[in-house]
Amino acid sequence: MFDNPAFDNHEGVHFFSDEPTGLRAVIAIHSTALGPSSGGTRMWDYPDSHSMVTDVLRLSQGMSYKNAMASIPHGGGKAVIWGNSKTDKTEALFRAFGRAVDSLQGRYWTAEDVGIDTADIEIAAQETRYAAGLTTGDAASGDPSPVTALGVFKGIQQTALRAFGSDDLNGKTVAVQGVGSVGGYTCKHLAEAGANLVITDIDQDALAEIAKNTGAKIVAPDDIYDVDADIFSPNALGAIINEDTLKRLKVKVIAGGANNQLVTPAMGEFVRRAGILYAPDYVINGGGIINVAAEISGDYSRAWVDQKLETLIDTLGSVLDTALDSGRPTNEVADEIARARIAAARA
Ligand code: NAD
Repeated sequence: MFDNPAFDNHEGVHFFSDEPTGLRAVIAIHSTALGPSSGGTRMWDYPDSHSMVTDVLRLSQGMSYKNAMASIPHGGGKAVIWGNSKTDKTEALFRAFGRAVDSLQGRYWTAEDVGIDTADIEIAAQETRYAAGLTTGDAASGDPSPVTALGVFKGIQQTALRAFGSDDLNGKTVAVQGVGSVGGYTCKHLAEAGANLVITDIDQDALAEIAKNTGAKIVAPDDIYDVDADIFSPNALGAIINEDTLKRLKVKVIAGGANNQLVTPAMGEFVRRAGILYAPDYVINGGGIINVAAEISGDYSRAWVDQKLETLIDTLGSVLDTALDSGRPTNEVADEIARARIAAARA
């Protein structure tokens, strides 16, 4: 554990097993300096326990940075369940997982992530009050995607302001990768702002619907990098900014909701040298966790969410300005601000 390169002085890494249900889970709490840790649960069929631990260490650190940049009173944590999300789910498993979360007595709040849906969290929530992203109950906040997408849209405007000298997207061409929940809502905002959309997805039905509603042009998944566009908005996969794709992109801005867009942090410097302004993913896509934080507070308020979203966009603006003024990559500046916020709270 302590030798794992992904270990970053995590406060606690908790291993759970429950023989009757087959539960094998790890909950990593990276930091509670800013408040109880929060972050979703991922269910994945890892090849071995080392991969599982590395994943949860990396993801929980990412949540610390994301929550710090979203100015919410939460530290970072994440849970992983070892198993196949298509074949291994049972009610008993998620009840056992709920008891595991509960045993941490509120130092970690869970929600959905890859392989987990609202129904699974609703089961866990029968065993613990430390579960959010629910669709039932007084404070339930439901699907966070519309809030994430609104933040992404406002973030695109802020990045455009610095790259083109205006936040007016009327007539700008935006290449959008992925038109699922976040990408779909983002397209709607972009179309309303007068942008020309070029979209791609592997889901033909989703593509047809967005094209019908926004007048977007459809291209094949691999062709999205070659589009003659002003802005590239990734809203599907991670690691899509790499040596190969960077050579092909003709845009001046990369700004979208997908997590882990850069193949490695070092890629940020290559993006900068290519004359592209990159909105760091975990800053621009923080709207969803703000919505979840409102639910965790026990008193969901849309006005609070909107105010936090404005603060998030101001933070993104500061990251971009600092990076431009100092000639440094935006992702490096964002990491530095996040680490400083956590260290100040700890002190
Ligand atoms: P989603 O599953 O609703 O949408 C993803 C879309 O990407 C789907 O339509 C899928 O068909 C498409 N896709 C998959 N492979 C593709 C490929 N090779 N080329 C083009 N399209 C492809 O998921 P989502 O909730 O919209 O999340 C999208 C991204 O945003 C993810 O990286 C997620 O981690 C991140 N994110 C989401 C939220 C949120 O509130 N939902 C918050 C923060 C970050």
